[in-house]
Amino acid sequence: MNDSMRRATAILLVILGGAALWWAGNGAPASASANDAMVATVAAAREHAAANDPRLKGASRFEEGGWIYVHLEGDPGAMGYQHGYLLAPEIEDGFAAVSAGMVHSTRRDWEFFRKAAHEMLWPKIDAEYQQELQGIVEGLRARTGSKLDVDDIVAFNAFEELPDYYVPWLNKQQRAANAPNLKSPGNCSAFVATGSWTKDGQIVMAHNNWTSYRNGERWRIVFDIAPKSGYRMLMDGFPGVIASDDDFGINSDGLMVTETTITQFEGWDPNGKAEFVRARKALQYAGSIDEYTKIMLDGNNGGYANDWLLGDRKTGEIAQLELGLKAYKLWRTKDGAFAGSNWARDPKVLKVDTPEFDPDNKESSPNARRARWEELLKENKGKIDVALAEKMLGDHADTAQKKEEANERTLCGHVDGSPRGVKQWGWQAYYPGGAVQGKATDAAMTKEMRFVARMGHPCGGDFLAKPFLAAHPEYAWEEPYLRDMKAGPWTEFRSGQASKE
Ligand SMILES: [Zn+2]
Repeated sequence: MNDSMRRATAILLVILGGAALWWAGNGAPASASANDAMVATVAAAREHAAANDPRLKGASRFEEGGWIYVHLEGDPGAMGYQHGYLLAPEIEDGFAAVSAGMVHSTRRDWEFFRKAAHEMLWPKIDAEYQQELQGIVEGLRARTGSKLDVDDIVAFNAFEELPDYYVPWLNKQQRAANAPNLKSPGNCSAFVATGSWTKDGQIVMAHNNWTSYRNGERWRIVFDIAPKSGYRMLMDGFPGVIASDDDFGINSDGLMVTETTITQFEGWDPNGKAEFVRARKALQYAGSIDEYTKIMLDGNNGGYANDWLLGDRKTGEIAQLELGLKAYKLWRTKDGAFAGSNWARDPKVLKVDTPEFDPDNKESSPNARRARWEELLKENKGKIDVALAEKMLGDHADTAQKKEEANERTLCGHVDGSPRGVKQWGWQAYYPGGAVQGKATDAAMTKEMRFVARMGHPCGGDFLAKPFLAAHPEYAWEEPYLRDMKAGPWTEFRSGQASKE
C-alpha cells in the first residue's frame, strides 16, 4: 500500500468507526437528531483526517491587530491546500459577500461567472496556479465540506476583473438592452518615493486600499508565501485569492509593488491571461522593474487595469507602469516620487483606454487626491519615511473645498459621508466604501521582509454598519454582508513570523 492509499484507508476507518458508534447508540436512524449526530460525526472525522494531511506541514496561522497572518510553503498544490484549509471560514464568508456583489451589480447570475471562469480564464492560467487554485478547493472542502468547486474559486479570484471589465465589454459586444451602467473601479491612494525625497535616500512605499466596506472589512489577510519556485513574498490579501489584489507586496529579491486603479478604463481581451494570475506571477518571479513589466504585459487582458508603482531596493530605482490595454507607459527614476489616486496621465492611455475620464475636473475624487499628493509629497520632500507615510494615508485634506473633511476626495476616503458619491466609479451618494486598510514599508524593511499595516480606515476612524443602514435604506441589500469596520493599530508583520502566544 502506498502512502496515499494508507491515508485514505485510515480516513475511511475513522468515518466507519463514527458511523458504527452512531448506529450502536441510536438504533432508530429515522430521527432528525440522530441524523444530525451522524453528520456531525462524519464532519469531525473529516476535519481530523484533514488536519493530519501532510500537505499542511510547515503552514501556520495567527491573528494580530485585526489581521490574519498565514504562512504558506511548498509546491503549488500544497500551498493551495494550506490556504484553503487555514482560511476556510473566511473564504466561505468572503465568497458569499463578493459573489453577492458581482451578481447584484451586473444582473448576471453566478452560473454566468462560473462559465466565464471555466471557458475563458482557466485554459490560460499557468499550470502552477491551476494547481494552487485546485489545492484551495481541496483544502476548503477537507476543512468544511464546502460545495465550492474550482470554477467558483477562479471566478471569485477574478472579482476585480470579471464584473467591471469583462461584463461591460460583453454588454457592448452583445448590444445588451437595459444593461446596467457598469464602471471600472477606482481603488486606492498610494505613493513610492526615493533619492532626495526620502529621509534616508532609499525607497519608501505606502498604499491604502479603497473598496466597498462590504469587501474591504474582509481584506485582512497577511500572506507570507515561501513557494517551491520563485521568490519569497509578503503581501496583504483577500481570503481565497492568490494575488494580493489591492495590491501591496514585497519579495525576497527586493522588489516592492503597489498600484492604484485607472478610473473609467474601458476594454477587455477575452484571449488574454487573467490579471490576478499575472499580478501574482510578477510578484513571485520578478527581480527587477523590467522583469515585472514583462510579466504584466505577457497576455495583458485589460482586466483590473492599474497604474503600478514599483521599487527595486537593490538599485534604489522606482517606476510607474501605467498599464492600459491598447497603450501603456513606463516612467522610472532614482530621484523622485510617483503618486497614484486612480488617474491616468499618459496622453495616449488617456485617449485610447480611458476616453470618458476628465483629467481637468478638480472636483473629482481622483484629481482632488492627485493635487493633495503633489502638495503633501512636496511639503515633505527629504523627510519622507514610514512614520510619515502612515500619517499621509490617513490624511483628510479636501483640495477642492480647501478644508479638512473626511470625504470622497481625501487620501483616506470616507465616501459614506459624501452626498456626492463618486460618479466616475458608479458609487452613488453615501456609498459605503472608501479606504479600508493601509500598509507601508521602506527599502531597509523590505530587505528584512517586513511591512506595517493597519486594518480599517488608516486615520483610525470606525465605520458602524447598523446606524449607516438605518440612515441609508437604499443600501439595504448589503445588510446580510455589511459589518462594522473598526480600525486596528498600526502593526508590523514580517516573513517567518510566529504568533506571540
Ligand atoms: Zn479617514
